[in-house]
Amino acid sequence: MKCRRCRGPAVIDIRRHNAAFCRDCFLRHCREQVKRAIKDHEMIVPGDRVLVAVSGGKDSLALWDLLAELEIEADGLYLGLGIGDYSDESGRHARDFAVARGRRLIEVDLREEYGFDVPVAAAATRRAPCGACGLSKRHLFNDVALREGYDAIATGHNLDDEAAVLLGNVLRWETGYLGRQAPVLPNAPGFVRKIKPLVRLGEREMAAYCVLTGIDYQVDECPMAQGNRHLGLKEVLDALEERSAGAKAAFLFGFYDRGREHFLEEAAAERGDLRPCPECGSPTTSELCAFCTLRDRATGENVPVHLRRAPVGD
Ligand code: SF4
Ligand SMILES: [Zn+2]
Ligand SMILES: [Zn+2]
Repeated sequence: MKCRRCRGPAVIDIRRHNAAFCRDCFLRHCREQVKRAIKDHEMIVPGDRVLVAVSGGKDSLALWDLLAELEIEADGLYLGLGIGDYSDESGRHARDFAVARGRRLIEVDLREEYGFDVPVAAAATRRAPCGACGLSKRHLFNDVALREGYDAIATGHNLDDEAAVLLGNVLRWETGYLGRQAPVLPNAPGFVRKIKPLVRLGEREMAAYCVLTGIDYQVDECPMAQGNRHLGLKEVLDALEERSAGAKAAFLFGFYDRGREHFLEEAAAERGDLRPCPECGSPTTSELCAFCTLRDRATGENVPVHLRRAPVGD
């Protein structure tokens, strides 16, 4: 197997590109894909202050590294979700990466600052942990970015993640979500721009990037991921990709180019009239925003006794 660019010995093949690469040409390929995503979707403009949502996993650390390689200065934000050893380990990977490279890492701990964590929220709401976790992450990324004056929040969603989300939304015809699924969501009053610079790179490429650059990332899966329906959707897409290389990319990029436009009206209508949440100021269509509602439930009486924690400050 030879490298497509330099004809040297290849270390990885990428079937959807019908190509194999040596180490250096592969790293260059990753940089080019990120550069192209940023340019095609106008994700970042010169002078932007970028905040990377860092989980300690391969995608977010590779993203932070790739942005620096492209001379895009970005700080990191790590959220302590309180998921036992998994969170301890994730935090360590994020901190070690930041220290080794002299980067600023902002840390927010759900339990310390808001009095609950993901397992408690899941028990209180009697729903899958990923729902409470995703909601908290979205809220806090935006909140911290607004408070600290960042122009864009970059997340490590890759091609496999986005294709799986798209398949899930299509299977249920979630028209509002379909209208909002994009590699970049522009800023709006109360919302900082969200960008996904890894949409052109797959899961396997991100793992290879970390291995080849010596990035020490959290390999273990989150113990709460069981029951996360995206894992099943990814398996379905992997099976399709196996039969037809490039199927995932065609599905996702075809949607961006020709599908999403049909759902924009629904997405706008679902947003309705936004007003500031009386507790935290975040834009919401309800009386209280979803995060404050979750926090109230997770710190309230309906939390099982064994999971209750002392209120913050006690
Ligand atoms: S798998 Fe679910 S609970 Fe675990 S970090 Fe991801 S979203 Fe949160
Ligand atoms: Zn090469
Ligand atoms: Zn609120």
